[in-house]
Amino acid sequence: MGKAREWDRFWGKVELSGSCWLWTAAKNDSGYGVFRNAEQNLEYAHRWAYRKLVGPPPDGLTHDHLCHVRLCVNPDHAEYVTPVENVMRAARLRTKGRPMSETVSEYNDMAAEQRTYR
Ligand SMILES: [Zn+2]
Repeated sequence: MGKAREWDRFWGKVELSGSCWLWTAAKNDSGYGVFRNAEQNLEYAHRWAYRKLVGPPPDGLTHDHLCHVRLCVNPDHAEYVTPVENVMRAARLRTKGRPMSETVSEYNDMAAEQRTYR
């Protein structure tokens, strides 16, 4: 499968609605878009778009959706932060007084997921 085909295949699954670019194809259990890339690996759709339009995401950092739309693949809505910072930001958005153990277990899930889809 060539690179041009990969490009068309990807953007055929994206709906440009307002400033968010919404992924309309496969999702993982956490609600993030996933895409089978030209190397036949599953990759986060938002990560693929970032890689193609901006460049390789910084090593060891994790994609934070500034718009809080998990299916959004617009690189302008992304910021790469440390995994801990990402979880802390998410935790701050949710109910205050949430047990730390939940935040930690969420971090562990996310780290496992990152390994799967990297
Ligand atoms: Zn967005």
